[in-house]
Amino acid sequence: MMKTKKNTIKVLSSSVIEKIAAGEVIERPASVLKELVENSIDASSTKIEITVEGAGFSLIRVSDNGLGMSSTDLEKCVVRHATSKINSADDLFMISTMGFRGEAMASVAAVSRLNVVSSDNDSGLGYAISSEGGVVKGIEPQQHLRGTKVTVRDLFYNVPARKKFMKTQRAEQLAIVRMLEQMVIPFPGIHFTVTVDGKKVMEIPECGSPRERIAAVGGTKFAQNLIECSEENDGVSALLYVSTPETLQKRPRFQSLYVNLRRIDNDSVTFAVREAFSRFLGHGNRPSFFCFLDIDPGCIDVNVHPTKQQIKFDEDRRIFGFIYRAVKSGIEKMLISKDDFRESAKTDIENLSDTYPALHSNAGEEGGGKDTGAQREKPKEEESAFQTILPFPASKRYSEKELDHKAESSVQLDNDDKDVLWNLIPCYQIHGMFILAPIKNGILLIDQHAAHERVLFEQALKDLHSGRTASQQLLFPVLFEVSPTEKAIIESGKEYFSGFGFEIADFGGNTISVSAIPAFLKDGQVENTIREMIRYLLDGRGSDAFGEPTKRFAAAFACGAAIKSGQKLSQEEMNALLNSLFSAKNPYTCPHGRPTLVRMSLDELTRRFLR
Ligand code: ADP
Ligand code: MG
Repeated sequence: MMKTKKNTIKVLSSSVIEKIAAGEVIERPASVLKELVENSIDASSTKIEITVEGAGFSLIRVSDNGLGMSSTDLEKCVVRHATSKINSADDLFMISTMGFRGEAMASVAAVSRLNVVSSDNDSGLGYAISSEGGVVKGIEPQQHLRGTKVTVRDLFYNVPARKKFMKTQRAEQLAIVRMLEQMVIPFPGIHFTVTVDGKKVMEIPECGSPRERIAAVGGTKFAQNLIECSEENDGVSALLYVSTPETLQKRPRFQSLYVNLRRIDNDSVTFAVREAFSRFLGHGNRPSFFCFLDIDPGCIDVNVHPTKQQIKFDEDRRIFGFIYRAVKSGIEKMLISKDDFRESAKTDIENLSDTYPALHSNAGEEGGGKDTGAQREKPKEEESAFQTILPFPASKRYSEKELDHKAESSVQLDNDDKDVLWNLIPCYQIHGMFILAPIKNGILLIDQHAAHERVLFEQALKDLHSGRTASQQLLFPVLFEVSPTEKAIIESGKEYFSGFGFEIADFGGNTISVSAIPAFLKDGQVENTIREMIRYLLDGRGSDAFGEPTKRFAAAFACGAAIKSGQKLSQEEMNALLNSLFSAKNPYTCPHGRPTLVRMSLDELTRRFLR
């Protein structure tokens, strides 16, 4: 045991107490900004101007045209637990404003150099108050139009330990843009401008509806495609905008819940939306959604989390059912009204039933026709095996563990198999997801997306390391809309994108233009690939898996450019994919370590058929 001095209990000085309390509310620059913008919203502002420098560490300024403060209020606003928004403990259960604890301003003051100028009238005269590390320096008159301007400089200058825990400036800046992007959505009546390091990154004028606001953030085309769903019942009302079933994505762009206009994380709402889509959710795809819930403030507890990002519903299950019904009936209404959707759904179903006969007749043709030599010793038996393997549930008779073990122990291929000329092997695509290929002593099942990801990952890494990526100039630049956060991601990975052959420029507004791409990317894939890469890079999981940015970027590219599940492949494409997979350094896993293939030996097959 370590020797320590005898502990004596000391009462902490008020400046230490302030800093501890500040840590609860003010985790990072984005949380300061969030509190300030909430205050401007609470003050009924119609125009809010935000300025950020040095990822918020040097400067955060929020200027509004709201109700403003009198000189006495201004003096109180930096005192802890001073608020104009609640009076008694009972009010805590009826909160209708964004703020209520009277903590934010005092917390910000404790860890920065703060200046607040405000006027609550039209005389052109207001007052200013400054504080340094929580020590208030007094109040003095100053010219100011009605409204409030809060300037925070040198955030955390007196809490070096907290600064050390911050991620990179890039990450903090991204967090700021992301937070703002989410925050502006439910307030179409407020004009927001955001300037970061001298560059205007958001100019979001007042508009008439949430859908228009969504368009201002996510792009017009995206917003037009959303289905509107609404439901009202027992003092709860919900308005949702959700993706159409055709536009589901593995990593949806937005999954945003607002309860009484406050952005909230709540898994059961996300889950309810997803459940309502369950019949359309193939291949791990998910809907984007914006959900605005309006609930009697008495039925929720917003006071369960220091940064107010979570709430407790009195009846979680009722909310789940409510959202589920709203989305389900919204989708159904859309399907009924939209004939062409029914048409395309019909052809989808027809395509699906096509797959089986095609597969069977192929198997017969190839087996009888081309002789591929040693690999196809027993064509007759293999064919029958394919046909019975297809309805996969049969394998359920084995325990999961047993199967895992089998897959693991049999995944490595013999050198014989690896050196096979894959272009000569007839392969079969199953459910648009897997490739079934016969090998010398059994069969291989290959996950088409994972396999292609591996191939592209290795190629991208090689190119990035050697710095010799071939780029192709596009005849017509590809233009598409992205959100401010998505733009910030491209900006933050600029050197990788350009080092890898992409030429991406800001086209003004929400639009970016892509004028060159890596040589081996097809030009029809540009938008999708870049979008997927952005989503991948935004997704926290990517950064955990790869510490090294080059690897992370290569993985993002591989994920974005790889063939998707559900994409039909020709015989040649399947053969080419297998050829490249088995030339890869590590053909057995995708960049994230998931298996690319499962092998079943002939021995095992015969055992399973009890032969
Ligand atoms: P809370 O928002 O929880 O009341 P804050 O510490 O964020 O606590 O703010 C304290 C008080 O300062 C608010 O209750 C409000 O009266 C006043 N205030 C802060 N910012 C503004 C602003 N932009 N406009 C008008 N009043 C403000
Ligand atoms: Mg507040």
